[in-house]
Amino acid sequence: MNKFLGRSLRAGSTLLGSLISADPGESAAGRADVPGRADVPGPVTVRSGDPRYGDLVRGFNQRFVGNPEYVRLASSAGQVVQAVQEAARTDKRVVVRSGGHCYESFAADPDAQVVIDLSEMRAVYYDPALDAFAVEPGATLLDLYEGLYKRWGVTLPGGSCPSVGVGGHIVGGGYGPLSRLHGLTVDHLYGVEVVTVDAHGRARKVLATREHTDPNRELWWAHTGGGGGNFGVVTRYLLRSAATVPADPTTLLPAPPAEVWIAAVSWPWENMTEQSFVRLLKNFGAWHERNSAPDSPYAGLFSQLKPAHRSSGAIVLDVQIDATLPGAEGLLDDYLASLNEGVGIEPFVLQRVRLPWLHAAQWMGFFGGDPTVRFKAKSAYMRTGFPDGQLAAIYRGMTRTDYQHPYAMIMLTSYGGAINTVAPDATAVPSRDSILKLHYIAFWADPADDARHIAWIRDLYRDVYADTGGVPVSNAVTDGCFVNYADIDLSDPTQNTSAVPWYTLYYGDNYPRLQQAKARWDPTDRFRHAQSIRLPRR
Ligand SMILES: Cc1cc2nc3c(=O)[nH]c(=O)nc-3n(C[C@H](O)[C@H](O)[C@H](O)COP(=O)(O)OP(=O)(O)OC[C@H]3O[C@@H](n4cnc5c(N)ncnc54)[C@H](O)[C@@H]3O)c2cc1C
Repeated sequence: MNKFLGRSLRAGSTLLGSLISADPGESAAGRADVPGRADVPGPVTVRSGDPRYGDLVRGFNQRFVGNPEYVRLASSAGQVVQAVQEAARTDKRVVVRSGGHCYESFAADPDAQVVIDLSEMRAVYYDPALDAFAVEPGATLLDLYEGLYKRWGVTLPGGSCPSVGVGGHIVGGGYGPLSRLHGLTVDHLYGVEVVTVDAHGRARKVLATREHTDPNRELWWAHTGGGGGNFGVVTRYLLRSAATVPADPTTLLPAPPAEVWIAAVSWPWENMTEQSFVRLLKNFGAWHERNSAPDSPYAGLFSQLKPAHRSSGAIVLDVQIDATLPGAEGLLDDYLASLNEGVGIEPFVLQRVRLPWLHAAQWMGFFGGDPTVRFKAKSAYMRTGFPDGQLAAIYRGMTRTDYQHPYAMIMLTSYGGAINTVAPDATAVPSRDSILKLHYIAFWADPADDARHIAWIRDLYRDVYADTGGVPVSNAVTDGCFVNYADIDLSDPTQNTSAVPWYTLYYGDNYPRLQQAKARWDPTDRFRHAQSIRLPRR
């Protein structure tokens, strides 16, 4: 059974700086830009009728299937330049897919005529010329973690799902279990190599770094949380933390803890009253209010509390803590005790084990490997714990009797710590004083159930944020939405009745600067989707 479902739920169903022109020396069969890899295959074009077509026009969320004239599988940056140039010359709408984990249809848009598929570009290596780690966009998070850790003992504080692609994850401001210790992925982004198209339709490969002297610096900044599919095609991410010892790769990125404690506990729904439910979530919020400063002894603790619909049977909490911290087990015990204070139900301990870090790194990933998954998700940043009105709305949503579904939940996720040491405009991720990130999600398999589940999640979200137009606007309690959990409803005036547009919910005050980057690097709006950065009005 899927590990996430097995742990979470009692139900037994298995549902589950410089411009670089197109490298003239790089032939379709050669790949000078990846050290040690001389034999790289040429590009592959797959059209409708090809047996592979069905596999290459979809990603992870089976709600969305593309319908392009062709999919171009590229194996090098030079091949990406050629593919983008060809699409620009023939004026075809092009989208790019790396790991295929987009929440909406952006990379599987039926209106796109060309898909550039980067899933074969997965190298992770040290680039001595730039003194940074280079990661290709098709690398999965597991490729990245293994590549960086086994050889150099370092990591990037990214997400927990092993199959997510680096391509969309980093540019969207990806975060994960080590983010309270080490910040967001983009806080370690030194540069990007991007294929862009200029006003004359010329495709070219551009290197942009965070160096203040770099004339392309704004393109780097736009990739520190601006979201995928906006400015061009990223062909390499360059990773290096701000303060490092030059030319020693083992110091370029943070080292993860050698070992972590992981624990999962569950509270059965059968004993849960509204009072105990509310107390548990209140405790979770209050604990994070008290323990999310960057210098907190709990910066090494990350957890997810998952209130799922009552029909799931249980509410599960997953926790990871740096086992090398002095008194780590005691900190874990204290955390669990503090969450359970006054709840009145003794939780089951489902798991509690000390593991080497890399071995544990995928543990919190969810619904991996199920080819039938369809899902809808929403998000919210929280600056404080939960107001009573929000808790009452969450309880209503999770106990609805006209909706029964075990795979419908909110993941309440630890945030803060090192994330909040960075200024809101230092990267494109504006939310730098939140303590929680909320991930509303329902997943299912049968297309006939789409409307039912989408309606549930929309109703719940609107109810929780009823006081602020159905969305978590930036105020004393909430602070907008996470672009990596893309939610097309934020653009829908029937769902978002606040006066705050979708782009402000994602980007806050950083949006106009992203628009300036768009105007400079994608002046003809070649790279667009339903929620892409809009060109500024002239
Ligand atoms: C199961 C699951 C678990 C997740 N867990 C986490 C998590 O723990 N933390 C977190 O932060 N996020 C998480 N996410 C969200 C994830 O980070 C985003 O969905 C991310 O955008 C996925 O990137 P991708 O390359 O896999 O997806 P894709 O579908 O390939 O791309 C997503 C978007 O980025 C664009 N894009 C892709 N590659 C490029 C490129 N090379 N250049 C320019 N644009 C590009 C696409 O066009 C699309 O708009 C999770 C998602 C899923 C489905």
